[in-house]
Amino acid sequence: MSAAGPVEDTLALIGNTPLVRLAGPSAAAGCDIFGKCEFANPGGSVKDRAALYIVRDAEARGLLKPGGTVVEGTAGNTGIGIALVANALGYRTIIVMPDNQSREKMQTLRALGAELVTVPPTKFADPAHFVHTSRRLAEETEGAVWANQFDNTANRKAHIEGTAAELWAQLDGRIDGFTCAAGTGGTIAGVGMGLKAFDRDCVIALTDPHGAALYNYYACGELASEGSSVAEGIGQGRITGNLQGAPIDTQFRIADEEGLHWVGKLLQEEGLCLGLSSGINVAGAVALGRKLVADGRRAPRVATVLCDSGFRYLSTLYDPEWLRAKGLPVFDWLDRD
Ligand code: PMP
Repeated sequence: MSAAGPVEDTLALIGNTPLVRLAGPSAAAGCDIFGKCEFANPGGSVKDRAALYIVRDAEARGLLKPGGTVVEGTAGNTGIGIALVANALGYRTIIVMPDNQSREKMQTLRALGAELVTVPPTKFADPAHFVHTSRRLAEETEGAVWANQFDNTANRKAHIEGTAAELWAQLDGRIDGFTCAAGTGGTIAGVGMGLKAFDRDCVIALTDPHGAALYNYYACGELASEGSSVAEGIGQGRITGNLQGAPIDTQFRIADEEGLHWVGKLLQEEGLCLGLSSGINVAGAVALGRKLVADGRRAPRVATVLCDSGFRYLSTLYDPEWLRAKGLPVFDWLDRD
């Protein structure tokens, strides 16, 4: 493959990510499984796409003026995306983050020059929750806009116009299924809507971690959760603005151990170092591939997103002490000496 020519600026590096066939997951599913390499975005995650669309939308609405500030509550990746987009366009960034997220994400935000506010994790109904704290900070800050990634549908638009259209083109218009987990729900809803517009028969599956309420919602109409997960950036307890009208055909619930199994296998056998939400997505893609094979689809092709890199979690997922403290299995190669 020849290298593409130069792009105009940093923001033009967002999106158009490569798609890779995943050998191990394809063998396990008995059909082709593809991963969209969202870690290749300039901010290192799928959230650069939403950050760019949200900032551009605020500008177009006249809410964000030169020298203004973008405020957001985030598990980290959206904040990193907003900080890089804001730097490239001359805005300030204030990020509110729960203090149990990875140290690497906090260090990255500080390195990018974002003002970082950390708050203790708490339930959404609590006014001290990071989302509500970020809204209040935006209201109190002169010239600030609140990105509001959970309910601002500029988020999913990035995936309708970007991720879905790219997948369709990269797979030559033949894609039988797509699945991923939801944080804001922007990715699953946007890719789902975009792919359904190309092909109504493309099956859209939600892959939910434990501790989230969406599996039960799509399975039986009730927002209810069981268990818990250490995965960052995914797990939702309500139908966000972005999830409203999402075309979900089926759903899977994946345990952290199963997600970690794929993180370890992809690292060791395919040289891909990923975060846990990607491992959970791949487990969901294997489940969806098996289902499509069992349903009689011929040689189905399933895609998912590889949301961010494992380098963002060296102090958690790749630290034996941290894994042990969470009661999770330790990768063999980390325990060698
Ligand atoms: N994985 C990671 C690592 C994330 O940071 C996020 C964003 N919160 C997601 C998955 C989920 O993406 P979305 O918000 O589009 O549902």
